[in-house]
Amino acid sequence: MERTLSLIKPDAVSRNLTGAINSRFEQAGLRIIAQKRLRLTTSQAEKFYEIHRERAFYGSFCEYMSSGPIVAQVLGGENAVLRNRELMGATNPANAEIGTIRRDFGESIEHNAVHGSDSLENAAVEIGFFFSELEIIE
Ligand code: GDP
Repeated sequence: MERTLSLIKPDAVSRNLTGAINSRFEQAGLRIIAQKRLRLTTSQAEKFYEIHRERAFYGSFCEYMSSGPIVAQVLGGENAVLRNRELMGATNPANAEIGTIRRDFGESIEHNAVHGSDSLENAAVEIGFFFSELEIIE
C-alpha cells in the first residue's frame, strides 16, 4: 500500500468543499488514514513549497496558501500517488479532464483546490512535514 500527501487548499476549504473532495478519494478506493485542519504561516508555506522558490508565482502562491485554513491528509491505497494525481487532474483547472477535482472545484491555476504529492519519494518528505507516524492510522 502506498501513502501520499493531499492538501485541500484555502480556496476549497473556504467554499466548504472538504466533504465533497473527500468523497472523491473514498469513491476511488483511497483511504484517509490521517487528517487535520490547520493554517500555515507564510514562512511555513514557503518552506513546504521551497522547490518552487525560483518560479515567478512563488510569492503570491505562498501568500495564498497561508491565507486561510487548509486540510492536510494522508491518503493510503494501491498506487495512491498516481491515483490521487489522476483524481486531481491537471494543474490548470481549465485544462483538467472533466470529472477531476480541479476541473470541478478549482477556480484558477493558482486556486486549484488541491495539492497531491507527485512521487513516492516526495510523498514521504511531504507527509513528514505535516504528520508524525503516531498520527497515521492504517
Ligand atoms: P501541481 O503539482 O499540479 O500542483 O503543480 P506545480 O507543482 O507545478 O505547482 C504547484 C502549485 O503552484 C500549483 O498547484 C498551483 O496552485 C500553483 N501554480 C502552478 N503554476 C502556476 C502559475 O503559472 N501561476 C500561479 N499563480 N500559480 C501556479
